[in-house]
Amino acid sequence: MSALLFRDDAYLKACEATVVAVNGNAVELDRTVFYPLGGGQAGDTGRIDDFKVIDTRKGAGADSVLHLMESPSPLKPGDRVQIAIDWERRHRLMRMHTALHLLGSIVRAPVTGGRIAEDKAHLDFDIELEKLQKEALEERLNALTSSSVKTRALWISDEELDARPELVRTLSVAPPRGAGKVRLLEIPGIDLQACGGTHVADIAEIGRPSIVKIRSEGKRNKRVTLELG
Ligand SMILES: [Zn+2]
Repeated sequence: MSALLFRDDAYLKACEATVVAVNGNAVELDRTVFYPLGGGQAGDTGRIDDFKVIDTRKGAGADSVLHLMESPSPLKPGDRVQIAIDWERRHRLMRMHTALHLLGSIVRAPVTGGRIAEDKAHLDFDIELEKLQKEALEERLNALTSSSVKTRALWISDEELDARPELVRTLSVAPPRGAGKVRLLEIPGIDLQACGGTHVADIAEIGRPSIVKIRSEGKRNKRVTLELG
């Protein structure tokens, strides 16, 4: 179990940590700024001391994080290390992730899937394809990102979440449960969603996203893909 520092501050780029376990290429630390693949968002890359981290995944335990090294790691439990994420890449992921929250607030239909990668991001909606108009969506998205709205994270109990099912738009990437509380991301006046990912502090940081593709990926999956300008 690791202290997940990105949950309280997504802008932490580096910290000191202690190695708690090493298993082949996977290194676990007592605390981390690395976000593990989850909720559709790609895992972080970066460095532990001079060694390259090529991906980050969830481990078996609730808050366990596996830093996947380029090659079997010479690190051993007890080692004090300096860790740092590839910040430029992560910030792009944060901008794209937050842009998807905005997109979800514009398209009022059930969300059936989603993914945030380095170069592009998409959401799938259960909606008729002809209701998704590229120019109209892009215009509304950019109207939002041209304003300044501060985002904030808050926590509610599992029971509160069960009583408010509208807080979980994306069933296929539902937030982690079981710890008794669930994290919400609020973009005041725009969106309120259960989400464990990393987001920008102000939607103005997103810039000007463009909708690059709208296509059918199945009966209940109409995919809207965006890129950052
Ligand atoms: Zn999110």
